[in-house]
This record gives sequence, structure tokens and C-alpha cells, in this order.
Amino acid sequence: MIRQFGVAAGSVALCAVGIFVGRSPTAAVAQAREAQATCRPTCWQLRLYTIDRGKLDDFAQAWSRGVYPLRLKRGFQIPAAWSMPETNQFVWIVGYDGPETFAAKDSSYYASAERAALQPDPRPWIARAEKWFVTPVLSGPGAQDQLPVPPGAEASDHFDPVVATNAYLATVPPDKRARSDAYFEGGYWLILWNFLASAAVYLLLLGKGWSARMRDLAERVTGSKPLQTFLYWVQFLVVTAVLLFPLTVYQGFVREHQYGLATQTFGPWLGDQLKGLAVGVVLGGVFVIAIYGVVRRAPRSWWIWGSVVTVAFLMFSAMIAPVFILPLFNKYTKLEDARVKDPILSMARANGIPASEVYVVNASRQSTRVSANVSGFLGTERITLNDNLLNRCTLPEIESTMGHEMGHYVLNHVYKGTLFFGVLTVLGFAFLRGASGRALTRRGDAWRLRGVDDLAALPLFALLIAVYFFVLTPVTNTYIRTQEYEADIFGLNAAGQPDGEALIDLKLGDYRKLDPGPVEELIFFDHPSGRTRIYAAMRWKAEHLNSPLYGVPASSR
Ligand SMILES: [Zn+2]
Repeated sequence: MIRQFGVAAGSVALCAVGIFVGRSPTAAVAQAREAQATCRPTCWQLRLYTIDRGKLDDFAQAWSRGVYPLRLKRGFQIPAAWSMPETNQFVWIVGYDGPETFAAKDSSYYASAERAALQPDPRPWIARAEKWFVTPVLSGPGAQDQLPVPPGAEASDHFDPVVATNAYLATVPPDKRARSDAYFEGGYWLILWNFLASAAVYLLLLGKGWSARMRDLAERVTGSKPLQTFLYWVQFLVVTAVLLFPLTVYQGFVREHQYGLATQTFGPWLGDQLKGLAVGVVLGGVFVIAIYGVVRRAPRSWWIWGSVVTVAFLMFSAMIAPVFILPLFNKYTKLEDARVKDPILSMARANGIPASEVYVVNASRQSTRVSANVSGFLGTERITLNDNLLNRCTLPEIESTMGHEMGHYVLNHVYKGTLFFGVLTVLGFAFLRGASGRALTRRGDAWRLRGVDDLAALPLFALLIAVYFFVLTPVTNTYIRTQEYEADIFGLNAAGQPDGEALIDLKLGDYRKLDPGPVEELIFFDHPSGRTRIYAAMRWKAEHLNSPLYGVPASSR
């Protein structure tokens, strides 16, 4: 039986502060005061009661119905209790991590009117009581102790999710908060500048006749339509990349370094940009060849078939990305550390995810950001955590993040997202057809464009697509943000680590404004803000303070 207990309690080491106490709790109180200093922040006490012969069942019943709920109500945590018929004993673990000492809290419990009113009172059946303070060795009950939970967010009998959320947010120093706000708000303007700059470049290509000249060149080089398309595409991509290069450097390099988020020097950064361009040449090339093939063959219904090709292409890209594209930029390795891997895989199995590996990406090559993701499609799905997350976070934080990523998987967000963006694509093509028709009638001659199937009209399409998605920014952000929130809720339930979640949310505050206004969040946020996410975690915590799952890592359930 004891062996069984040892296995079940798993993490709880029966440490050496063993003391013997009789029926009176006074000796234990004295000892508790002494031990208090050594077992902050949570005091865990293991209690072993020898029960009067024949009274074990009565005791267990009276304890579960009376003592257990009352202890929880008064702010104690009780992760485990067992009765041991072989020895006629009862064993349980009680913890407390509030502002008072364990001893004071325990005394006030015994002195309370509610305790005196317990019927039946199980205490007279205790023949002998032994109590030890214990320290968690592995993860397990009390693992959340390692987390720096701020005062105000600690479990207590007066826990308030709003107070707890504010307590977490208040741990971020004002200068750090100001920097993160400035970084993220700058991102709002970048949405506008990116739109205006690319629109200007496309209009330049059309208005100066450069696009028509690029087409003429492609036609002179080869008679093959697909090859002409590809040649035009390469010119288009290179010219736009060069013209937008200053903005790209500012946005992706200078600004990231200003805010301490980037780790790359200019050379490797530029290398990544060139690799990205090469991927754009190949993948984008295949795509435009397919689209122009469709436009030439179906002059009336091209917008419908174009939508189909686009969605199929997006699915194909998502499928090959983890295998062929992402490894061009980063190294993906299998996570070996069993202390991290085992709980993650256990959580995956518990949620019906057929994963046998967790991948780690060396994201620190480019940035200091903490992140994780689910990538892949139709069989190439995988869960990846980045090395910044692995290096900067505790297990509860990692579990919380992985629970979130598993949420994306279990809730089929990739497939739902494909459907959503599929609908947007069809609407977008309908818009393209109407708007490009009008633009060609008005400006076609001036821009030397022959029709919709003219390669030289590509900047016009690109311009219209940019307008379309710029206007839809709040819609797409809100769709994604809603999925992210769903994944948060899933992650809280799967990992049971509300404090891990809150701490991760604060780390994401390195690059995402923590406490925006509601309209700001609606328009600009593609993930919930720190406040929204921490509040969801604290609300979960408030409702699980008395649950046996709270604070128990997925690995130990
Ligand atoms: Zn997510």
C-alpha cells in the first residue's frame, strides 16, 4: 500500500523533518513555526493518522465530507488523500501558500466555529497523528511553487481574477512596458506604411511602363507561355524587392535591433532575405504559371478557377513548409530532454494527438522571441517549440504553451482557417475581376496592358490584393485572434497551469502590447492581448482552486 502511495504521490519526498505528535496539535504547531522558514512559498505537510480499529471507513467518509471542503474553503490545498486498510491508517497532504504562516493558518482553522461545528467530527477516531513537512522533488503537487507568482495572484480563499490579473501586469516595470507598447504601436503604422509603399511601387511599375517592358523582354526571350510567365515573375519579384528594400531593412533589421529582439548581424540577416526571395521565385513562380494558365483558358470564369488554384496552392505550401521550406532558415531537431518531452507527449496522448516527437527550432538564430507553433497539413503536422521558450521558461510555462498549440491541432484550426481564407479568396477574386476590369478600361492603354491575361497586369492585381487585405486587416486579425483565444482555453484545460500561462503571456509582452483598449485589440491584435490572456488564466484558476487538477502538471495526472 505504501508503495502504491509512493508511486501516486510521485513527487512528494518524505523529507527528513519527521516529527511525532500525539493527539494534540500543539507540538506540531511549534515545529511548524520552525519549519515554515524552510518551506516557502508553499508549505506542504504530510499527515499520517492511525485510526481506531474498525473506524477507518467512517473516518474517511467524515473527513471527505467535512474536513476536506472546509480546508479548501479556508485556503488550503489538498492534492491527495488515501486510506490504508492494511495498516488502518489514513494519509493526506495539505498545503498552504498564502500570506500567513502555515501554523497560524492551521491554528485559525482549528479554532474556527465551522471546524467546531463539523458533524460527525472525525478527530476522536484518530489514535495517533504524525505530521511532516515535505518538499516537492520532482514536478507534481507544488510544482507551481517554482513559479514567481506575484502577491495578489497567489491561491487564497479570497482569490479575485481581476486583482490577480492586475498583480501579474504590475510585475512588468514601466520602462519595459513603455518599450513594448512603443514597439507594438509602431507596428500599427507599419501596416499602413507597408501598404502605401507597395501600392506606390506597383503604380510606379504600371505608370512608368516598366511592367510592360518586363513583359516585352520575357516575350522576346521565349515563345513558351509558361516560361514567359516565369521570366516576368522573376523580374517583378526582384524589382519590387529592391524598391522595397529600405523599408524591409528598417522593419526587419534596424527596428528589431532597436528593441533588442534581433540576434542576427546584417550578413546572416541578408542571407535569410535572399533565401526568402529564392523561395518566392520558385513557389511563387509555380503559382503564377498556374494562375495565368487558368486566366488564358477560362477568360470568363477565371476568377472561380483562380480561387480554386489559390486555395489548393496554399494547402500545398502549408503541407511542404515544415519539410522543405522552414529547414532552409532554421535547424529543427527532436527534443531529447525527457523531463520536458515526456510531459508534453503525455499531454498529447491524453488529447488524442498521435505525436511521437516534439521538435525544437533554433529560433535564437534570428531573435529573442519566445514562441511555439503547429505547422504542416494533411500528414505533415508537427508541434515545434522554439529554443528561446525552452531556455527561458519553466516546465509549467512550457506545458501551458504546448497545451495551447495542441488546442490548435485538436480544434482543427488549420482546416477551419483554410475554409475561412478560402471564402476570403473567392470574394477577393470576385473583387479582382470587377476592379481589374474597370482599371483596365480606364488606364489599360496608358499602362500598355492588353487585358486580364496580360503578364504586365500583374502589378495591378498585386495592388488590388494589397488594398483588399489592407481593408480586411481587422477581419483577418479577429478571425485569427478568436482561434488563438480558443487555443488558450484549450491549453488551460489541458495543462492546468494558469500561472505558467500568465507568466508566458508576460514574456510575449516583450513584443506585444500587454494592456490595449478594446477597439485597439479588435483592429490590430492577431493574438489576444496580455491582459485578455492573463485574465482568462486567472478566471480558470479561480474556478479550479479546489480542483485536484489545479497545479498538477499534465505529467503527474
Ligand atoms: Zn496559437
